[in-house]
Formats: sequence, C-alpha cells, structure tokens
Amino acid sequence: MTYANLIAGAFVHGSDAVANVNPSDISDIIGQYDRASAAQVDDAIAAARAAAPAWARTTPQVRADMLDKIGSEILARRAELADLLAREEGKTLPEAAGEVGRAGQIFKFFAQETLRQQGERVASVRPGVEVEITREPMGVIGLITPWNFPIAIPAWKIAPALAYGNCVVMKPAELVPGSAWALADIIHRAGAPAGVFNLVMGRGSVVGEALVNDPRVDAISFTGSVPTGRGILEKAARRAAKVQLEMGGKNPLVVLADADIEVAVRCALDGSFFATGQRCTASSRLIVEQPVADRFVAALAEALKKQVVDDARKPGSTIGPVVDQSQLDQDMRYIDIGTQEGARLVVGGERLNRDKSGYYLSPALFADTRNDMRINREEIFGPVAAVIAVKNYDEALATANDTGFGLCSGIVTTSLKHAAHFRRNSESGMVMVNLPTAGVDYHVPFGGRKGSSYGPREQGRYAAEFYTQVKTAYVLAG
Ligand code: ADP
Repeated sequence: MTYANLIAGAFVHGSDAVANVNPSDISDIIGQYDRASAAQVDDAIAAARAAAPAWARTTPQVRADMLDKIGSEILARRAELADLLAREEGKTLPEAAGEVGRAGQIFKFFAQETLRQQGERVASVRPGVEVEITREPMGVIGLITPWNFPIAIPAWKIAPALAYGNCVVMKPAELVPGSAWALADIIHRAGAPAGVFNLVMGRGSVVGEALVNDPRVDAISFTGSVPTGRGILEKAARRAAKVQLEMGGKNPLVVLADADIEVAVRCALDGSFFATGQRCTASSRLIVEQPVADRFVAALAEALKKQVVDDARKPGSTIGPVVDQSQLDQDMRYIDIGTQEGARLVVGGERLNRDKSGYYLSPALFADTRNDMRINREEIFGPVAAVIAVKNYDEALATANDTGFGLCSGIVTTSLKHAAHFRRNSESGMVMVNLPTAGVDYHVPFGGRKGSSYGPREQGRYAAEFYTQVKTAYVLAG
C-alpha cells in the first residue's frame, strides 16, 4: 500500500514514494510512503495559511473536543500503534506501548489546556486606561521531527500547536513515516478542518528546507541533530522566524561512592541502553567515584550480558535493533574510535546475527575513559556508554558540566547534601536524582541548555511560550 500526504484536507499522492523498512527484519516492508514535492509543500502551507484565521477563532471547546477525540483514539488503538512503531523504529513492544500511551495522554492534556488559557488585566499608569495582556496563536507552524520517537515527538508538537489555535504543516523523519501517517489519519478523522493539519513526508533537504524558508510559516519547531538544527536556525534567522530547537545530548549520570549500586546499575541500564540508546536524554557518560568504579562496572557488565537483543516485536526482547545501516555504521565507528583512544571495551559492541536480518548490536560499555575522549564529547546515539572514574564529588560535578551539551543529567547517591548541590549546580535543563536520565513526564517542561536546545521549552503549559504570541491592549475606558 502507498500512503499519501495530507494536504488541505485530502490525501494526495506524491511523484515518488519510499519504502518503510523494519530494522528488525529488513525483508519486511511496512509500506510505501509518498514523498511530497516542493510544489506540494507549497500547497500545504497555502492551505494552512488559508485555514488559520477561522481556526484561531474557534472556541476552546471545539479544539478541546477534537484533541480529546484524537487522544482517545490513540489510547484505544495503543497495541496496534505500538506494533507499528516497534516495527518501523525498532523499540521493543513495551517501550513502544509506553510511547504511544504518552502520545495519547499529551493530546488529552492539551485538550484541557485549551480551557485554561488566561490573560492579565493590569492597572494602567494613565488615568482611565485599561491594559490587557493576552496570548494569540502564532499562525502557521512548521514541525520537523526525528525518527527516534515516531509518535510522541509529533504529538508533543502538534497538540500544543492546535490547542493554542495554530495550523500545522508537519514533516516527519523519512525513516518512520508510518506512525506519523497513522496520527495524521486520526487527526483528519477527528474532524480537523481542511488545512488545519497537513502532513508532508519526504526528504529534509526538499520538504524540510521548503518549510524553513517559506515566509508564510510563522514558527518552526525542530527536533533532530545539531548540524541540521544549526542550519535551520541560520535560515530562520535570515527571515526572523520564531524557532524552537531540540538537538543532541551527552548526558552524564553521576554515581557517588555512597550510592545504592543496584539503583545505579538500574539507572545506567535503562538510561544508557534501553530504546537502543537512541534517546537524546540517554546517559552516555557514566561518571563514577573511584571507590565504587570497579564494582559498578562489573555489575553493569553482568546486567548487559543478560539483555536480550532481538526482534523488537519478539516477546522477551529487552533491546531492539539499531534503526538503520547508517546509524549502525556510526555506532561501530565510535566503538572503533573509543578503542583507538585507549578506552577499554568491557562488554558488547558486536554485530549480532538473529533469525531475521536486522541491525543488531550488543550494548557496549567502555571503562577507563577520560572526559576529553571523542566518545565522551560527541553524541553517538546508540547503545554505547563510557565510564569515567573520578576522585570525588567536586570532580564528578565538574566533569558532568564539562560538555557542549546540557539536556539532562543524573546523580545516584544517598547523600541529601550532594543530591541538592547537584540539582542546583548541574548545567542542564533537566536533573534526575536516583532516576535514569531518560524517561520524563508528559505534562512538565522538556528542554536543555548550551548546545542541546534553543528557544522556549516544549511540553506542559510552558509550551505556550512558543506556540503563542503576546498582545498588550490599551483601552481608554472613559
Ligand atoms: P537524525 O539524525 O535524527 O535523522 P536529522 O537532523 O538529520 O537527525 O533529522 C531530523 C529531521 O530533520 C528529519 O525529519 C530530517 O528529514 C529533517 N532535516 C534534515 N535535513 C534538513 C534540512 N536541511 N532542513 C530541514 N529539515 C531537515
């Protein structure tokens, strides 16, 4: 079957299509997905522009009902959508079900948020004048999403965009158009008026670029790699468009000598390796106090040997495949780089053969690494983590902060003093205490500092910063 783009309320075929391949079994083709042409992107933007004034005037109830309906359908079809997600991206089924559930809850949350939009009435410094501050929609939002969360990231951008009265043109990642298409279909059937939500699948260099450069697109929200994000920022700056970027991470997990080692291993296993390490919040630097470093490494290595790396949809698999050949090549390249840099590969890092031909890699743990090694500076985005042993807490904190990124950080400790100090002094947008760096709630702000993020936060009510603009009105009341 060939899945078409959603433009101006109708599914429209493109000039060519690309196969959506299952990374657990590359002989399994999920479907053909159309690529939008530049002219079709133009049509989608025009449709969104045309729909924007009426959509902005809808009552919050109309938008709440629609978002709630979308959330309900996602939750009702959770198992089926999780199967599609696991099949196209390679997360295990339980991980995929978690992501789909999150997507549904996000729509439900923003359905309610439509009813909580508030303004301010302020006393004027001038006699008889009333000042009112309100938020209005931005207009047309361009959304560009990555492959690692095929339904949750589209959901956390689409839901606030629509809730606050904007129209949307979304370009999903080429590797995972299936979940995005399913979501577009749900939104369409939930009664989104023509042009309010448009899906344009295809290449970043064609579809993404067209969205970024079009003056009719008022704001761009992007999640993806650092180079692409920087490029988008430069192009958007040229036309002074509002931009929100979520990019990479090189997130530290600090393990202090007083930590419960079982908790530390659980946090590292989940944060570094689950979802195949393909999360921007993954902890890739495990910064461990020397007295417990050997014990921690041995316990984590044992836990890694017990992992079942196999077909994402096979019961019992704990780690699915890498998403595609080029990501697998990148992971293997960094494993070579680490070894050449003098890091000790404790376990994993091997290409695995399974019943079906897929991109299987055993989770790799490096020890005896330094924070200035490339494997600790550059984002790998795979099931690879490196242990950096440090003398004390002060060195742990300094090492954690010595990075160009600042998305998420974590500490495992039983010391209230160190936990509190780390929470205050960690240079990251999100801090976890005795929890994995990856895995966040859906109703609170998500985002980072330094090279990880740019612009206002995503999710929760903080999302209003990006998806609305402020108006200050002065009225002479007489
Ligand atoms: P990833 O490694 O996650 O694929 P990318 O930054 O390459 O990271 O991709 C994230 C999203 O950005 C994808 O939807 C991709 O198609 C899109 N993209 C890639 N290049 C561009 C570009 N030049 N302009 C706009 N979007 C792009």
